[in-house]
Amino acid sequence: MTIRQLRNYIDGRFEDGVSTFDKHSPVNGQRIAQVHEASRDQVNRAIAAAHRALPAWAGLSVEARTDHLLALADGITRRFDDFLQAEIGDTGKPVGWAGKIDIPRGAANFRAFAELARTLDMESYMTDTPDGRQALNYAYRKPLGVVGVISPWNLPLLLLTWKVAPALAFGNTVIMKPSEVTPSTATLLAEVADQAGLPAGVLNLAHGFGPDSAGEFLTTHPDIDGITFTGESATGATIMRAVAPGVKPVSFELGGKNAALVFADADFDAAVDGVTRSVFANCGQVCLCTERVYVERPIYERFVAALAARARDMRIGWPLDPATEMGPLVSREHREKVLSYFALAREEGATVVAGGGVPVFGDDRDAGAYVQPTVWTGLKEDARCIKEEVFGPVCHVAPFDTEDEAIRLANDTRYGLAAAVWTQNLTRGHRVAQAMKVGLAWVNCWFLRDLRTPFGGSGLSGIGREGGRHSLHFYTEPTNVCIKL
Ligand code: NAD
Repeated sequence: MTIRQLRNYIDGRFEDGVSTFDKHSPVNGQRIAQVHEASRDQVNRAIAAAHRALPAWAGLSVEARTDHLLALADGITRRFDDFLQAEIGDTGKPVGWAGKIDIPRGAANFRAFAELARTLDMESYMTDTPDGRQALNYAYRKPLGVVGVISPWNLPLLLLTWKVAPALAFGNTVIMKPSEVTPSTATLLAEVADQAGLPAGVLNLAHGFGPDSAGEFLTTHPDIDGITFTGESATGATIMRAVAPGVKPVSFELGGKNAALVFADADFDAAVDGVTRSVFANCGQVCLCTERVYVERPIYERFVAALAARARDMRIGWPLDPATEMGPLVSREHREKVLSYFALAREEGATVVAGGGVPVFGDDRDAGAYVQPTVWTGLKEDARCIKEEVFGPVCHVAPFDTEDEAIRLANDTRYGLAAAVWTQNLTRGHRVAQAMKVGLAWVNCWFLRDLRTPFGGSGLSGIGREGGRHSLHFYTEPTNVCIKL
């Protein structure tokens, strides 16, 4: 097997790093790539190149700039299979998920923000003046400048392009710092940009880690104009401290401890299907995944039994097998964390109604990062397993008696990202969804996304919203122009 070399992309050139680190497959532990870690000097040069490229890029006509974005989308689509294999190689996610979600959304992000940039209107007001005349106010929006995009490993291409696309569409230049755990598709995106003739310096790539590496070099650099970050809440706090001296704007999409509320009047089968998906999709490694399920008492026992059966029947397997429903976790290191919560749940008094361990295959996969889909009951609401994000294929199910109690339980968390409400009473659906202290509330569905809608969370789940014109607010700075007529 050839070991791929994943290089940095700085000012339109691919460069070796100061050192390299190995990337291992989460399926069987094999070494699959060598990643070139960027030095501080390389990150500095990437930022300088992005500043040089900024005036010409920001000065392009909207049509010319968005044509470049469409070329990036086409480039991803043309190399769909390369992107798919790379994403599956890095993460082990099933082809059914990566082929339907990760890679298509990578291209769709560029198309959606190109479309938005082409159709934007401008905020303007007619204002009465003291001398009986009028003035025209309009908010002229300029790019923020050179933006650092720091992304996680769970949906690598999807979450990277979710930020790169609006940044470029609104005239910014970018340094990408993908997760060290999933460096492959970001490298392919740099190749696509290179082949598509994106001007040098507009999109740069620096590989590496967080502390004392590319992530920190980027966030502490005085000439970076803003940081947009997706990842853990604790990392967000560190980045906030790093940018504080320069008072740099940040957009943060962080962790979650999301609830699903299942009312007795829900379509039972649809709720079981929906909650199964929201707990176990991508091996539980989506920030929007459900980790706390609250079920109205009359259907509680039946619901737990149905969900546990679905967990036990889940087809765990090779990522490239189309029948596979769940792959491994992203790495052995992450599996240690998830397994530590499996152990903690037992100490905290959980009843393990499904899973709770590691599957044994008797082949190569035993060297991978697999865990069993797991369902707990019986924990107290102040247990750490109820309060802390696990980020694995696991949930806790508890009963409730009244709507008020369900709302109180769901909102009793320091996170505030997503919730799902299952009921056939539409009045209740609206009422409960609106009462959720989250950025995204779904009723009778989950992870149904429209890229024009606000996306993000509050509390430990983040700062700000991106998506549609909400992205415009982060990636541009308005200058209000007031003209007396
Ligand atoms: P992480 O915070 O460990 O890493 C994310 C990125 O930050 C990586 O590129 C990493 O190298 C970098 N980084 C780490 N320390 C840094 C530092 N000191 N300075 C600068 N950069 C640094 O997160 P992860 O483990 O890759 O991702 C999983 C987390 O992401 C989960 O908590 C999940 O909930 C969250 N997430 C949130 C959303 C959302 O939209 N709210 C989406 C996906 C994932």
